[in-house]
Amino acid sequence: MDNLQALSYITTVTGGLLLWLLEGVVPFFAGRKSRGKHAAANLSIAAINLLILLPSGVVMALVLEQSKAVWSGVKALELPFLFETAFIILLIDLWMYLWHRLNHQINFLWRFHSIHHSDPALDVTTAWRFHYVEIVFSELLRFPVFILIGASIQDLLLYSMLMTPVIEFHHSNVSIPSSADRLLRTVIPSPSMHRVHHSVIRSEHDSNYGSLLSLWDRLFGSFRLKEDIKNMAIGLNNESSPEKQRLAALLVRPFHN
Ligand SMILES: [Zn+2]
Ligand SMILES: [Zn+2]
Repeated sequence: MDNLQALSYITTVTGGLLLWLLEGVVPFFAGRKSRGKHAAANLSIAAINLLILLPSGVVMALVLEQSKAVWSGVKALELPFLFETAFIILLIDLWMYLWHRLNHQINFLWRFHSIHHSDPALDVTTAWRFHYVEIVFSELLRFPVFILIGASIQDLLLYSMLMTPVIEFHHSNVSIPSSADRLLRTVIPSPSMHRVHHSVIRSEHDSNYGSLLSLWDRLFGSFRLKEDIKNMAIGLNNESSPEKQRLAALLVRPFHN
């Protein structure tokens, strides 16, 4: 487990750093200024979230270890190891899709999730910009869901190791050939898909909810593409001014009308 955890940290940090450097060399949206300042604000939000995520991970490991004595979930099917792991990864990703969709459809949850969407300059650091209250809700709901699935902490670490580079990549401002994007989105939510998810237009940001796999958006009718993404407005209307994008303002934004 320690090896998986270390590998998960390494892929997160090196993947993020590599993409941030690439964004400076081959950006999709050109002419970005103050990239350092933008990254500092988003990573400060991420640092607050780590204070919740790290202890929650420890408790999750203990709870999943205890719960398998009374409920085995998918493991009761006694599938061959690879099938079992693949099935669990699929179910975790399905939950991530549903949870993300609920964050858009329930106004109370959108208050917090909108902090992720109000970033006017989408890049790899946006992948880590989530309001801490969204993180608390998301962590609390994970306990019953993962117990029900019968996931082990190793399954969660494996999922996180696969999903994290994907979400970093589809948030990144790295320009890739459209043929590569087309190929990638047969399996994962590609950058062009997730850029539509960050459009200011509601019907557009209410689409492409996938984290690791694009399958769920195709299956549940939320898959959406757009022709001229380069000239698309990113963020949320009336939320992109420098005053509203300051760290303190973002942290209290959900509590105001
Ligand atoms: Zn969203
Ligand atoms: Zn996003």
